Amino acid sequence: MEKTNKDANDSNSIRYKRELSRLRSIKHRNTMRDRCRPTTQYNTGMYGTSRSIIGLSTQTPVEKSSDVINYGDGDRSDISDHSDQNIQNFPDPIRNSNDIDYEDENAEDEDESVEDEDENAEDEDENAEDEDESVEDEDENVEDEDDDNDGNSNDLSINIIDEQQNEANRYCLDLTNFIRSSNLNKKNTNDLLKLVNSISSNKKLPRTEEKLWKQLGIEFNYKIFAYCTNCMALLNEFNARCNSCINIPSMINSEFILFSIEKELNHIIQMNSDFMKGYRPHSGGDLIYGNIYQSKSRKNAVTLILSTDGKPTTKNSRSSMWPVIATIAEIPLPIREYKENVVLLGLWHSPKSPSVEILLGRIMENINKLQINGFDTQLEVIRCSFHKDFIEYLFSPMRDTLFICILQNELLHEFLNDSITSAVTSSFFVLLLDVQHFDLDVLLFVGDLPARSKCCCINSCVGYYSCTHCLFDGVRCTEHQHTLFPWERFRGDPPKRRTQQHISECIRQIELSTKSDKIFGIISRSPLSTVLSMPDQIPFDYFHLCYEIHMPALMKHWMKILSKESKQCIDGYLSNISYPHSFNRYPRTITNFSQWKASEMRVFTLYVCLPSLVQLKNEFPAVIIAHFSLFFIYIRRLRFFDNQRDMESMIYFIEAYLDQYASLYSKCAELLSTHALIHLYEQSLNIGSLSSHSLFSTESYLHHLYKLAHGTVALAQQMAHWHTINRCLQATDNKFSSKLFETKKFLEKNFFNHNVKRQFKEEFKKCFVEYFGVESISSIKFYSRYQDGLIVYHSLSYTNKKKSSSYNVSIMNQSNARTSTTGQIIFFFEYNNGSFAFFKNLILSDIKFSSFIQTNDQVNQWNDYIDYYYYFVHTSSSSFNISLCTNINRKCLLLPFDNKFSLCTEIELELEHD
Ligand SMILES: [Zn+2]
Ligand SMILES: [Zn+2]
Ligand SMILES: [Zn+2]
Repeated sequence: MEKTNKDANDSNSIRYKRELSRLRSIKHRNTMRDRCRPTTQYNTGMYGTSRSIIGLSTQTPVEKSSDVINYGDGDRSDISDHSDQNIQNFPDPIRNSNDIDYEDENAEDEDESVEDEDENAEDEDENAEDEDESVEDEDENVEDEDDDNDGNSNDLSINIIDEQQNEANRYCLDLTNFIRSSNLNKKNTNDLLKLVNSISSNKKLPRTEEKLWKQLGIEFNYKIFAYCTNCMALLNEFNARCNSCINIPSMINSEFILFSIEKELNHIIQMNSDFMKGYRPHSGGDLIYGNIYQSKSRKNAVTLILSTDGKPTTKNSRSSMWPVIATIAEIPLPIREYKENVVLLGLWHSPKSPSVEILLGRIMENINKLQINGFDTQLEVIRCSFHKDFIEYLFSPMRDTLFICILQNELLHEFLNDSITSAVTSSFFVLLLDVQHFDLDVLLFVGDLPARSKCCCINSCVGYYSCTHCLFDGVRCTEHQHTLFPWERFRGDPPKRRTQQHISECIRQIELSTKSDKIFGIISRSPLSTVLSMPDQIPFDYFHLCYEIHMPALMKHWMKILSKESKQCIDGYLSNISYPHSFNRYPRTITNFSQWKASEMRVFTLYVCLPSLVQLKNEFPAVIIAHFSLFFIYIRRLRFFDNQRDMESMIYFIEAYLDQYASLYSKCAELLSTHALIHLYEQSLNIGSLSSHSLFSTESYLHHLYKLAHGTVALAQQMAHWHTINRCLQATDNKFSSKLFETKKFLEKNFFNHNVKRQFKEEFKKCFVEYFGVESISSIKFYSRYQDGLIVYHSLSYTNKKKSSSYNVSIMNQSNARTSTTGQIIFFFEYNNGSFAFFKNLILSDIKFSSFIQTNDQVNQWNDYIDYYYYFVHTSSSSFNISLCTNINRKCLLLPFDNKFSLCTEIELELEHD
């Protein structure tokens, strides 16, 4: 423990010094003068209603690094006034959510209770599943925010270190914490506040919800627009009735919430300042290494990955919710997709699907303004000491000029040089906000097939010319009334690629024409075209294409061929697999595959499908297994690669797969979703690996949003309300930092099974002498778990491992890092300040997995890839070894094969979003 603290302090002080030296070197920025209008208020508290640019304290300076200073985040009207101007240009936003009318909601609450209960039951199931893991996870995910558990407890765990922080504020935070975790509605919240006040009236606690938020400095600065659901006319207020539709049976009005991009980004940038300043622990296949991002490469960039998706609000609900969200490319995965880091741009709630203009128009207009002008935001707070004279000068009549100069980091330079030595004796210190200018850009828009068609204003997937990437017209199947995209035709005469130029030309012709004709499937101009270039920056989403459409289609076909015994055989096989503790979901039985979540389908497709089909031996057509193996290699490689060169041969795999697809399955199976598979290849070249731009996070963000609302009325407004509160309260300086990736340590809470140590005593002694050249001595410390960045490895001596298999790993060989060994970690130990793993070495077999699959000799390297992804190891191996913990490469899945061998496959990207 001591060591860790010391390290942390050291790195903090290094960071602190680095910050100061960086500040000194930052150049003058003219643009700042116009934008920053500092206030002269003092920093009064954590969520003081006004954030001062410079806070002042007369207490003795305390050496605290900027890491622990926690000023939370309130209104930063001083530096981002202009963001409101952007919004104010829109027609008649109704009002702020402060006065949302929830009356109707309460009235309808009772009607909905049955439905709600259903939902709760479902939630509980999910929780039960989560709980299985939670004991184990408790101390492992110290820094890894657990998205699925809603993170209630984490969001508000705010360190209060400001000496000025008064008791009442603390009570307010506690109350808020309670209100949020128990999901209280407005009425119950007010009742609670009344009750608390009547019990302890001397505490001066707020008496109403509004006053509570006010005291915490939370401002609700989103805009609400209400529409008549029938005719989509903009209404004056949410409860208004449309005059033109008075004779039509009324539906609930539609709501659209527009959030301030800058306010959202402010919070997120501050929580992720290390990444925004250029720390890049991104994996080699990430989208920031794709051609498109690289061609945009700028300093101080915030690059958005936009997405949207519509889902019914509850299972039987007549209304649906469409959030428009964004993630930030500069933040590395998996942190990029944590719900705290998702930018909420807009929310549509209605019984009807929104028009693209309503859904995206205002948002794109706002983004476009920021693309042109950029924006300024506070990166972090730096605490500096200054000479007394300087402080007096600061509050002299000249201060306004001076404040601006400090923001420009210009005068700061001089003052630091002059007064840094005397600062030690000074009794003043100053807080500086490091305000920086950022360039905003958009990298991608991601959506499932229906959302893409809608947002691109192009024919939906049942129509002709519905591919956004090429000018393939398609063929009508008269039997099923759907459009097919036959591979044979595509291959024989490849259609031209779509380009932005071509799309623009189509739109020009449409706009000139008096008829409402579509040209090459283009319907009209998309609001997206104002912020990005159409085909290249609108990739297909592999989550949706592969796990929700293509794999289920294949499996539906397989289920018809599989005998009852074969299905049972696969189910038995699946139930014998143990997964790492980080796998929250995995397939249990194949018969209910249609209910699998995408993450279950992912585990099946990437790791266990091929081996389980091979298990069936002659019970399943060999040609289908061989054919599937092509798809498997293609998707697994495109999903994760370290280097673009690693995936260049993949085009041959998908071509060979599509060559046989129609004959093995059906001509009618060649839908747009099948055709789109071919485009995933060039998409990966341009944008990076498929996992770096999938809809996994969008999907789970939707679930998160739904938990924020009650009843059926004004759902979007309720979500916006709670989202804003969460946003303000969760923001802390540098919450997600480089430390998350650089931590390498044993986990202190040990749960160590000494029996395991005793069992392998002799083997360990022998290995120790071989490795270190000395007898093992008593100064060795033993551990059962080791953390490398965000990944936690277990060992066989971990008492709490249950059924998980987080001790199966591949370990890089010390002599040659390109080769690796598969091992089962028995325990970890510390010796001479080094961290080591003692493991059972699973010896590689000469038998090749590819020899169990019918050869696909039309594709070069087919067997190389199969044998790269799956290899046999001797299960009954008795060789042992020691390795540095830093050589542990990644976890492995050991799949049962027979008595002698297990099939091993490495788990790339263990932390892809669930
Ligand atoms: Zn109307
Ligand atoms: Zn196409
Ligand atoms: Zn058909």
